[in-house]
Amino acid sequence: MKRILDYEEMNELLDYLDKNIIQKCDPIGYTNFDYPIDHYKYGHGDNHVIITAGTHGAELITNVFVVRFMEKLSKGEISIDPDIYTIHFIPFVNPEGTIIVTKAIRSLIPRNISFDQEQTYCLTYYRNSYIEGQYATKYDDMDNKLQEWMFRHATPSLLEGKLGESVDELIKKYNLPKGVMINWSSNGRGVDLNSNIEFSEYIDKIKSSKTYSKLHLNNLRRDVPGPVGCPFYEVEGEIEPENKALLNFYNEVNDKYNLIGSFIYHSCGNIVFCLSETKEKNPWKPDFNENDVKDNFLVANKYAEISKYKVIGRDAYTTMDAKLKTLFPVSILIELGGVRATPLSQFMDLDLPGSGEDFKNVYSKIINDNTDAIIKTLPLMLDINKKKK
Ligand SMILES: [Zn+2]
Repeated sequence: MKRILDYEEMNELLDYLDKNIIQKCDPIGYTNFDYPIDHYKYGHGDNHVIITAGTHGAELITNVFVVRFMEKLSKGEISIDPDIYTIHFIPFVNPEGTIIVTKAIRSLIPRNISFDQEQTYCLTYYRNSYIEGQYATKYDDMDNKLQEWMFRHATPSLLEGKLGESVDELIKKYNLPKGVMINWSSNGRGVDLNSNIEFSEYIDKIKSSKTYSKLHLNNLRRDVPGPVGCPFYEVEGEIEPENKALLNFYNEVNDKYNLIGSFIYHSCGNIVFCLSETKEKNPWKPDFNENDVKDNFLVANKYAEISKYKVIGRDAYTTMDAKLKTLFPVSILIELGGVRATPLSQFMDLDLPGSGEDFKNVYSKIINDNTDAIIKTLPLMLDINKKKK
C-alpha cells in the first residue's frame, strides 16, 4: 500500500466512509478562495471531542493520519463508544495549503507507482533536507535547497483559478525560490494560520527587519506573505477566514455541548505540547485557572506515555493553537513524527539495516502509536471532565 495521499485521494476515501458511522456535516466555513473547511462527525454521546489536522499545509502526515483514523473507525477496525463520545473531525483546517503541497507532490511523484518507488522519493527528499540542514549550520548557506529543487517544475499553473493566481503573484512579488510550493505551510494568500492571531510575536519581529525560517528552510522569509510564518496578509491583526471558522466552531461545540477535549495535529518532533505557567498575563483568559494547567498536563502526559513522545510546556501565548489551548484547556497539540522535513519524510516506512530507531518505519509508527494514543487518552479526558462538574 502506498503511503502518500493527495487532497483528492483523501476526499475520495472520505466519500466512501460508511455514512451510518461517520457523517459529513456542513463545512465550518470557507477559505478566501472558497474551498470548504469540511467537518465530519462520529458518534452521538454527550461528551464531545474535536480532532484537527493540517493547520500547516506542508504537514501532510497530519491529514493522512486523521483520514486513516476515520477510515479505521468506519471499518470497525478500532472502537470508540458512540454512546459516550461525539467526535468532530476537521481533517483539513487549511485546505488551500494542502492543495498547494499535494499538487506539488504529484508534479513529481505519480499516484500509480509501487510502494518501493514511492519510498525512494521520500528517502531522497529526507536526505536532501538533511544535507541542507547541515549546510545551513556549517556554512550559513542560504542558497536554493536540494529538496525544493526536486520540485522546481511544480508551479502555480497546477492550481485552479484564484488560488493559482494568488500563489503566482506571491512567488513573483517576493521572488520566492523555485520549488517553494512543496514547503507551503500557509494558506493561499501566504498567511501562516498558526501565526495569524492578534498577539503574534511575529508582528513585532517582522516590522524591524527581514526574518527567515530556520535550517533547511532558511531561504524562506517569514516577514512577507509566503510559504511559512507570516502572521497577516496586509492589515496588521487581520484574522483569516480559516481561523475565524475554527474559533467559531470550538465556541459553538463548547457552548452547546460538553467539550471534553481536543487533539490538534502538527508535524514534526515527537512532542505533545501542553499548557504551562507563564510570566506574561494570558491575553485571552486573564482569570486562568491553575487546575486547568494541571489537568492539561495529565492529558498530555497520558498521550505521551502511549505514543512515547515528549511532553513540553510552552511559555508564550503567541500562536492560534496556544489560543485554542487557553480558551479550551482540555486541548493538546501533537507534533507527529521524529524525523525532520515535511511533507515527505514522515511517509518513509523503511527498516534499513543499521539505521537508528527514530528512522525505522517512521510512517507505521506514527499511524499506530497515535491511533492507540487517542483511544487511550479519551477515557482520561472523560474522567477529568466528570471531576470538574
Ligand atoms: Zn505546524
